[in-house]
Amino acid sequence: MNDAGHGFSTKAIHVGQDPEPRTGAVVVPIYQTSTFAQPRVGEHTGYEYARTGNPTRTALQECLAALEGTEAAVCFASGLAAEDAIFRTLAPGDHVVMADDVYGGTWRQIAQVHTRWGIEVTAVDLGDLDAVAAAMSPATKLVWAETPSNPLLKILDLAGLAAIAHEHGARLVADNTFATPYLQQPTALGADLIVHSTTKYLGGHSDVVGGAVCTDAETAEELAFLQNAVGAVPGPFDAWLTLRGVKTLGVRMDRHCDNAATIAGWLAEHPRVTSVRYPGLATDPGHELAARQMQRFGGMVSFQVDGGVDAAKAVAEGTRLFFLAESLGGVESLIEHPGIMTHASVAGTQLEVPADLLRLSVGIESVDDLLADLDRALDDATPE
Ligand SMILES: *Cc1c(COP(=O)(O)O)cnc(C)c1O
Repeated sequence: MNDAGHGFSTKAIHVGQDPEPRTGAVVVPIYQTSTFAQPRVGEHTGYEYARTGNPTRTALQECLAALEGTEAAVCFASGLAAEDAIFRTLAPGDHVVMADDVYGGTWRQIAQVHTRWGIEVTAVDLGDLDAVAAAMSPATKLVWAETPSNPLLKILDLAGLAAIAHEHGARLVADNTFATPYLQQPTALGADLIVHSTTKYLGGHSDVVGGAVCTDAETAEELAFLQNAVGAVPGPFDAWLTLRGVKTLGVRMDRHCDNAATIAGWLAEHPRVTSVRYPGLATDPGHELAARQMQRFGGMVSFQVDGGVDAAKAVAEGTRLFFLAESLGGVESLIEHPGIMTHASVAGTQLEVPADLLRLSVGIESVDDLLADLDRALDDATPE
């Protein structure tokens, strides 16, 4: 099925996923093969060798492109492999303007790997459009944004960033991992490349690592060339698991949003919670912008607790339904302490996060059980 005129969840279930022609199987098969028999020398079926292409991967790519509203998508072995391919399109001397609070692995990759090959990067608060304009130079090829951000859930103005990037002959990359295309479509706001860690909400079940770039056909061809030359492909089973997850993205995201909104509102009233970050709260500094550029406000909530780092650690270790773990976007709820876990590498820099901050990836369990779990952990952990 092509995607003309259909709604989001119809596309998620059908695009790239016509019944398999020989048997009528309604689910795209896992083409667990490394090579494809060719009818004649110099002729093939569209598939030759599974690094270059695999039909299960193709199905996922067609589906993700339809969901993001781009001409094409290229899927990778991880989100960071997808980002690596984007940086490899650059040449020595090229410059990237990057959000100063991007995903830590993104920063580590550009700062510790790609700068060794002559790529230059400037970290900027992308919430300050004047600072972004001031950071642009004739060598700037990419502006790299991530919204909502991690773990403070700051909201960036994608349309404003796209305008600045384009004025300077650069392209806007939007990491849409936290929002997903169900809640935010960066293409419609002017972004040129959309990057995903499909490990998170798109896969949605904490059982697969993957990545994707959704973009125009010409850029996708360049990325596919680089991927075939470098080799960071997803296996067919990983592509299949991700595609299986994507089918339910819409219903999952609605439930993640419902539960997160309930929990954020409840935390904001809790006597032992000193601040809550959730763009869905009317008092949140990003609320107005998020209401404009997102359909809903997502499943991530961060908050600070009374009693400092010890209380925060005790809450993180005290929940039972919220597993203490890194990552996010699965059906099960997770809690983590960014200062000591995901964001330890930025301690002592301007990006250091508050020591009493906790981050929730709110799952799709029954919300009353989640509230009771948090309530007990907060009661047990914080001083009277
Ligand atoms: C997890 C994550 C990545 C990296 O993706 P991997 O699949 O872990 O390689 C990039 N960006 C964001 C926002 C992420 O959450």
